[in-house]
Amino acid sequence: MSERVYFSIDRCHGSYQLSINIEDDDGGGGHGYRIAGPKYDGTSGRLLKHYVTERDRSELHAYIDPIVEASEMSFTDAVRIMIKETGEDPDREGLQETPGRVLAAWSEWFGGYGKDPAAILKTFEETDCDEMVVQLSIPFFSHCEHHLVPFFGFAHLAYIPNGRVVGLSKLGRLVDIFARRLQIQERLCNQVADALYDNLNPKGVGVVMQARHLCLESRGLAKTGSVTVTSALRGNFKANPEVRAEFLSLVKTGMTGVIKL
Ligand SMILES: [Zn+2]
Repeated sequence: MSERVYFSIDRCHGSYQLSINIEDDDGGGGHGYRIAGPKYDGTSGRLLKHYVTERDRSELHAYIDPIVEASEMSFTDAVRIMIKETGEDPDREGLQETPGRVLAAWSEWFGGYGKDPAAILKTFEETDCDEMVVQLSIPFFSHCEHHLVPFFGFAHLAYIPNGRVVGLSKLGRLVDIFARRLQIQERLCNQVADALYDNLNPKGVGVVMQARHLCLESRGLAKTGSVTVTSALRGNFKANPEVRAEFLSLVKTGMTGVIKL
């Protein structure tokens, strides 16, 4: 069986991009590779077309694989490229250690992946407690998945126990698990509410989050100081207007309290 192989090598933003597409002879069932990297020293603007046999294809892989390997950059290589793209010299004294620092900061900012909320939301029996438990103004820092810049603010959490309660300090840790990921505020709010609802088995859950988004404030229309508010209600917080009203009036005291965004 013979195949049709297309190569194209383009230069973009100072690095080379090699695209390889392999198709069956009938034009169907193709698959492609795209390799971008500053280490690939290709020839600009070249387009080659080849017919190859199965044997040729393995030879082709022998040619492609080392390029793929050489093109796989480390995190710190990628940060150097980003620094260069700003117009800076990554070897300037003040910037030499920056890629390593960024890596350390990212490890912390995105340390929420792989952490299980169930592992921290251990409950204990408390049959006398059936009133709303509210924790206001839990600070959080997250990153918008569209621009990789921070959004940060306060989370207000509440639940009505159903015979079991959870340690209050666990609520802040729960928020961190989901905030330390690439997020949108709406999903973050829902994930916190669902984790509480699924693990505490309460009568209801309410979550309100208020945050400032740097992507919104510092670029484009630059809506400086605007605050985004999201909410997620579960169980009787959603079904019972009185419960919802009590929760929202408590949240209001948190929003207008000492802590200002
Ligand atoms: Zn954004």
